[in-house]
Amino acid sequence: MADKEVQNLWNKTLSYIRSKIEDTAFQTWFDGIKINTVDEESITLIVPNRFHYEWLESKYRNLINDAIKVSFGKSLIVNYSVILTEKTADNIPKFKESVQKAIPPGYHRPSNLNDRYTFENFIEGKGNQFARAAGISVTDKPGQTFFNPLLIYSSPGLGKTHLIQAAGNRMIRKNRSVKVLYITGEKFMLDFISSIQNNKSSDFTKFYRNIDMLLLDDVQFFVGKEQTQEQFFHLFNDLYQKEKQIILTTDRHPRKLVGLQERLISRFQSGLIADIQAPDLETRIAIIMNEAKHTGLELDYSIVEFIANSISGDIRVMKSLLVRLQALSTLKNIDIDLSLCRSVIRENLGESTVQSITFLQILNYVSKKHEIKKRQLTGKGRSHNIATARQIIMFLTRKLTNLSLKHIGKELGGRDHSTVIHSCNLVESKMKEDPAFNRQVESYVVDLNKFSNLGE
Ligand code: ADP
Ligand code: MG
Repeated sequence: MADKEVQNLWNKTLSYIRSKIEDTAFQTWFDGIKINTVDEESITLIVPNRFHYEWLESKYRNLINDAIKVSFGKSLIVNYSVILTEKTADNIPKFKESVQKAIPPGYHRPSNLNDRYTFENFIEGKGNQFARAAGISVTDKPGQTFFNPLLIYSSPGLGKTHLIQAAGNRMIRKNRSVKVLYITGEKFMLDFISSIQNNKSSDFTKFYRNIDMLLLDDVQFFVGKEQTQEQFFHLFNDLYQKEKQIILTTDRHPRKLVGLQERLISRFQSGLIADIQAPDLETRIAIIMNEAKHTGLELDYSIVEFIANSISGDIRVMKSLLVRLQALSTLKNIDIDLSLCRSVIRENLGESTVQSITFLQILNYVSKKHEIKKRQLTGKGRSHNIATARQIIMFLTRKLTNLSLKHIGKELGGRDHSTVIHSCNLVESKMKEDPAFNRQVESYVVDLNKFSNLGE
């Protein structure tokens, strides 16, 4: 086939995939994937690293096969080639680009912004999509949309500071003459107090009223600080009337900010309110991969998966774990493996974050239910009953524990990770087709969860 024709068919394949999955997932996993070679039977795709390949294999294998069948008119065997050198990495602009943009060139003094916070390195997921889109749109028409003020709220560590600073940085990049100011609620208050102490209240007022875009982070700090609230109330009104953009963040919905004046709460609610929810597994994996890439940290896919499964609520914690892992491995000159990872998580976050259901519990349970000896399940036997029970164990272990594919395969007769993926897929599709089987597996999950709560 001519190159051009191949490219057309591949573009078709990508459009098919794009129509079937969320934009975020598409951008993370498919944007930038190129074809290496195609022949009568197979197609070889270039991916940036092994994580990427394993993720595609475990999550999107069927979708990729379907898409190829539709666009190429026949099934092809899909192979992957991982690019190793910097030179070929040019082929994958998204990754290359994000690496460059993440290198922190510094801090922009007049605005207080740190340009390490950008939309480019803010991974989009279901939980933050809306807030992110709102943040981008206010920089397109600052002060002139209904999104004034824009208020973003979430529990800690989910990206509020990153997001409003990214909005500020984007604004400055678009138009350097726009006066952007990022400030935390606490700093605002300290500024205010010191202006009173030094008899410079009028300088304070003049300075703040001269701003075109005010990014005020962690407004919950104003709770109970009457004078600061009063001061801010007038500033808010002034900026608002001049159609200057205001972006605020808080740690909860403004309605719940007890100790804040009603008139402020009502103003906070007069524009757009966007919350950020905790990231789902796929987003967490993408964030870890992105971070590892930027810091030059080499992590096995199983480790990425383990961390993403262990830490669900706070991205800051997830990132600090990576920093700690990197420090330990550099200082002690050891590889980052699962046991190092587990001990760091345990040490920092407590036992409870590390899986509560064990492989052994699952093995015992299924062995009893199916009346098959454990030895047979962890052995090589391939009779139908044994194989089915083993597949169910793989599926349950994957669902209920943080064990990696490799580890699960090792526990069950030294099978490799692709066998585990395949088995899990088989169980999943059988659950879809066979309601009785579905009920059976679901009841196992319920039982096993009870075990873990009882601490058995
Ligand atoms: P918050 O202000 O809500 O407490 P931060 O904005 O400080 O949270 O985020 C905590 C850390 O997590 C920061 O290092 C930030 O860069 C990172 N982070 C948060 N959300 C994302 C995301 N979607 N993609 C990449 N990094 C993120
Ligand atoms: Mg913050």
